Parts: sequence; structure tokens; C-alpha cells
Amino acid sequence: MQKVLQDLINKNRKWTQNGNLADYIPELENVDPSILGISIFGLNGELYTAGDYQYKFTLQSITKVITLMVALMENGVDEVFQYVGMEPTGDPFNSIVKLETIKPSKPLNPMINAGAIATVSLIEGTAEERFFKIIDLIRKMTGNDRISYNDKVYQSENATGDLNRALAYYMKNYGIIKGNIEEHLEVYFKQSSIEVTSMDVAKIGAVMANDGKLISSNEQLIPAGIVRIAKTFMITCGMYNASGEFALKVGIPAKSGVGGGILALAPKQFGIGVIGPALDDKGNSIGGVKLLEELSRERQLTIF
Ligand code: GLN
Repeated sequence: MQKVLQDLINKNRKWTQNGNLADYIPELENVDPSILGISIFGLNGELYTAGDYQYKFTLQSITKVITLMVALMENGVDEVFQYVGMEPTGDPFNSIVKLETIKPSKPLNPMINAGAIATVSLIEGTAEERFFKIIDLIRKMTGNDRISYNDKVYQSENATGDLNRALAYYMKNYGIIKGNIEEHLEVYFKQSSIEVTSMDVAKIGAVMANDGKLISSNEQLIPAGIVRIAKTFMITCGMYNASGEFALKVGIPAKSGVGGGILALAPKQFGIGVIGPALDDKGNSIGGVKLLEELSRERQLTIF
């Protein structure tokens, strides 16, 4: 496996030249676009790495998966899906269009920004307590207590996040979100800024591949039914408006973020963490997607 990964990195690094860094958050533009790395963490605890696997990046939209699981554990399925839907949008992640054109205006799914902000609003407590619940689950899934958030990225998101503010206030107007919007956004921007390596992401994937059980102790950290819901959203909505093509070409649950990370997993086998900050026009890691395409083909990972 180690050799397979090394070959995949060498072969696919060239794609990074065809991508662009996320530029809507100034802090995300200050990175080397040729970075490409991968980690795989197996259900027997084996770790394989290649390329820039130690590079630190912010989770961005990948945390939407974690927040969804926190909200579901706390509120139950019926309550959460009263405020956020279950359907792909076909629109970019930050689009406001469907909120206006499909009534009632609850966001279509928890993987787009509007849906993730609505999901954050369902977690109980002060902004600090709510953020802690999210990062605490990430620390437990990875077994890495040192995981924290990048304050510069957080400040940058907060300073430029007016489209997210617009989505949130729009939903407040229609009663989808209650409470203090600035507090919800603080949690949302902070969760986006949580900083990890591809190894941490592979470990998150491994717990999901193991139906919510920790690899080290077999403890059921997250109920299997909740992990199943999260994995299903990763298939239908995890790669933004490229999720259909990704399901055809790769065929495994995955969630990307504009930091260039991708969380993916092969059920019952292993978790995968990928980093490649150069993005394609949908906002997915351009080298990362190519890497996963080849890995899936070579190892026949598709679940379909
Ligand atoms: N923090 C980002 C935002 O809300 C996350 C978006 C993403 O990764 N697609 O704009």
C-alpha cells in the first residue's frame, strides 16, 4: 500500500498546476499550490502515508459531517430534519438560490453552508460550549488531543463571511434558525478553521468506516445509525455540485473542504485523508480527486 500511495502522489502531482487556491478567504491564498499528500488508516490500526501528508490545513466544509453527527446525537433524527433537508442541490455550496425558490425555505441538506449553519444552531449551549462539542468529537475520533483551530483563518473567515451572514439572517427571517446569529456564525467559522493533517482526517474516516467504533478500543463513540446518515450525505452531497460525477468515478463516501482536504473512507476497510490545496472549479482538491479516482480503480473501492 505504501508504494501504491507513493506512486499515486508522483503521478498525480502534476494536476495541481491546473487548479487554483481558494481566494475568497485571504488566509487560504497563502499556501503552496503544489502540495499533495495522502494518509490511509486501516481498521487494524495500520497507517500508510505519502507526499505532503504532514502538511497542516483547515478542515473547512469537512467539519459539516462532524457537526451533523453532534446535532443528531443531541437532538435525534426527527428534530434535526425538521430544520434541514435531505436532498442534493446541484448548486454551489454557498448558494442562496434554493432557499428562495423552494418553499418552505429550509436548507436542502446539511452539507451546504446554509444547512450547516442551521445544523450548528441546533447544538445546545454557549458558542464556546458548542464549539467544544464539535472539536471534542474530532479529538476523540483522531485520538489527537492537540487538535485546535487556526485563529488567523477564523479571523479571516469572520471578516469576509458576509455571504454566510446573509444565508443565516435569511433563514432567521423564516424561523429556520432561532437565537443569536452572530453566535451561530462564530461556531460555524471556528469549526471551519479547525486545523489537522491528512493523518487526522484518515483517522476520522476510519471511525466512520468502522460504523462509529473507535479503532483503538472498539468503543462505540457514535451510534452506527448516525454514522450511516452522515456517510449517505457524503455520497449524495459531499463533493458539492460534483457529487454525482464523484460517485460514478470514485464511488465511496467523501467530503471535501475549500482548504483542499478530502475525508473519504472505504467501508469496513480504512479511512482516507487527502490534502491538495489547488482546487477545481467546483471547489474540490484537483489533485486529491484524481488521486482518489485512481486509488478506487486500482483497489476496486466503489461501493456500487
Ligand atoms: N468556511 C467555508 C465557508 O463557509 C467553508 C466552505 C467550504 O469548505 N466549502 O465559506
